[in-house]
Amino acid sequence: MRHQGRTALLAAVVAVGLAVTGSPAVAHESLAVEPNQVQGLSVRQGDGYATLSWIPVPGATDYQIERTPVDANDNPIGPAQIRGVWRPDRQVRNDSPTFADAGFNPGDRFRWRVRARFGTAEQPFSEPVFGTTRPYWGDPSVPGQSLRTQWERTAAAQFTSYEEELAYTNELVRLSERVRVVEIARTAENRAVNMLIIGYPTPPATPEAVAATSPLLINCNVHGNEPGDREACFILARQLAFGDDARTVDLLSHTTVLIVPSINADGRARNTRGNTSGQDLNRDYSLIRQPETFGFVNMLREYRPVAGYDGHEFGNSNAGDLPMLPPRHANVAKSIFDESLRMIENHMYERGADDGWWPCPYGCQGGGNVGLGQETILRNNLGLKNVVNSLLELRSSGGPTRPNEGSGQENRRRKTFSALWTFNQFLDYYRANLPAILQAREESITFQISNTGRVVFRGSHPIPAHPAPHPGQAPPPVDAPLPSQILEDAPCAYSLTEEQYNSVPDDRPAGSGTTVAQRLAAHGWKVVKVGDRYVVPMTQPERGLIPLLLDVQAVEGMVAAERVYPTLTGLHDGRLKVSGVLCVDEAKLTGPVTVAPGAVLIATRSAFDGPIDASGAAGVFLANNTVVGPLRVSGSAGVLVASNQVTGPVEVSNNPDGAALVLANTVEGPLRCTGNSTAPLNLGIANSVTGPKEGQCAGL
Ligand SMILES: [Zn+2]
Repeated sequence: MRHQGRTALLAAVVAVGLAVTGSPAVAHESLAVEPNQVQGLSVRQGDGYATLSWIPVPGATDYQIERTPVDANDNPIGPAQIRGVWRPDRQVRNDSPTFADAGFNPGDRFRWRVRARFGTAEQPFSEPVFGTTRPYWGDPSVPGQSLRTQWERTAAAQFTSYEEELAYTNELVRLSERVRVVEIARTAENRAVNMLIIGYPTPPATPEAVAATSPLLINCNVHGNEPGDREACFILARQLAFGDDARTVDLLSHTTVLIVPSINADGRARNTRGNTSGQDLNRDYSLIRQPETFGFVNMLREYRPVAGYDGHEFGNSNAGDLPMLPPRHANVAKSIFDESLRMIENHMYERGADDGWWPCPYGCQGGGNVGLGQETILRNNLGLKNVVNSLLELRSSGGPTRPNEGSGQENRRRKTFSALWTFNQFLDYYRANLPAILQAREESITFQISNTGRVVFRGSHPIPAHPAPHPGQAPPPVDAPLPSQILEDAPCAYSLTEEQYNSVPDDRPAGSGTTVAQRLAAHGWKVVKVGDRYVVPMTQPERGLIPLLLDVQAVEGMVAAERVYPTLTGLHDGRLKVSGVLCVDEAKLTGPVTVAPGAVLIATRSAFDGPIDASGAAGVFLANNTVVGPLRVSGSAGVLVASNQVTGPVEVSNNPDGAALVLANTVEGPLRCTGNSTAPLNLGIANSVTGPKEGQCAGL
């Protein structure tokens, strides 16, 4: 009885609040409050879910959420069933409990009641609340908004087939100026892997123009037998294509949303985890043996998303609704790991507490040895490509906290609408936090290019336990790298023979037969030919991934290339002419440096007291140096100039191959770029230039 006084007081407070807000869907306050009866129950409708919230009962160990179908007059037309159990480790704010009830047929009307339990002792139910749930998104009388997927039309009895996907996306494109579709790959069974590109008022026309908007990416269905997220993606695409609300228009006016509904179209058609070859595609994003992953990684290079989500389903019914996990391979830059974790813990956990969903770390509550650091997994691979991102798992079965859900349509709808909630939250997080995302990306790219610190072949950043009471008290395994998986002294480059470079790796299972050269090009790495060798400098934005494919110690390597170590450190007096491959690290060079035609200079953390001139070189890679200029790179195949301090003019001209990277430099003097076959890029990381920025570098 000691709880009663406080309960009555809280009820009074809520009653006052009601008078002000006038919310219609709150239980009527009754003066005849029973001991330990839940007070202040209210319901709020979302897309495919209803958020119940109530005033906590002191001493309650958990709560049961009851749902009853009712007619328009609120008379029951079906059984009252316990649909949810709220546990005190469910959310980050236990003083204001919420529960997202889901699984019902959208548009139906229900009565809800909630009761506390002390151990197994059930306390009185609250007064009921009633509500009509939201129908499937979109006004049936508005063209476009009226589209419905096969899954929606069949009340989740059928998943949307490949043919229905094509028909649906064709209609999105036909009826909305905001959407276009590109094919990013073709499967072994000749299905298109499509990507929806959505922007306002129209999507940018080219990959480079999309990249300039700092796009975000949702990968919906890599495991063909985990279809819940894919159905959410179709609904999300319709909301984005036809939503006229301020939020949607604002988001799409500021960025581009990339949605890949079916990277594993063959596996979806067969309802199998892998593709036709039996390959788990989410173990192939680094090796890119398969056509689907090869095309996807090509797309990443071209479109350069800055944030992403990767959708799955997970079989642990004890875990939260929505297990999530950041990229955590130990070579992922700290800034990307931290920002991804902030997205999950600061945004998803908080919004989950608002709306009643239960995000937790992947592997929470005895989820097993999952969520590790394999670079073959998209989550980690994106992190190594400087993308803030998270895995999303949809809890497969209802389990003890969602009883009476079964395995049919209720279960499918709960999963899909929890994914739709997450993806919409991801869009909101992106819109509110873009500066932080871009800051993390900038720090990551400049860190990777600096080639600083050890290389880890396998192993993860630890995921700290989120403070109790919360869902994260059981984070995934530590997964610290073993000493044998660490290379303390990173090379400055890898060198491949002609045969290695042009070989087709002996893939198991059989892949698409692409060569090492084609795969490295798909990743977007700069490779320069010096004599009969192919040199891959580590001074690149994806430095953390390079050894995982090219080092002899790699756990799942592509080819065992030769490590190249710096040959010049310390003091070098006088003029220097570079021939062959020269790596310079932490050196001081007093005289002018000339890079001979066909040679490559890779220099980090060094002081060049004289000018650098490269004409017709195989490559010039300069990061974190000081240079008393001028610095001139002309007619050279591979060019990267990043985070240097240059006194004097910088000229990047007439370079024949892929875009030179010129970023994060401080230049006291002009920056001139002319005649390059592809305009140089700064990847969104500006140079600080006191003189004019001219020609192709005017915008850098
Ligand atoms: Zn999966």
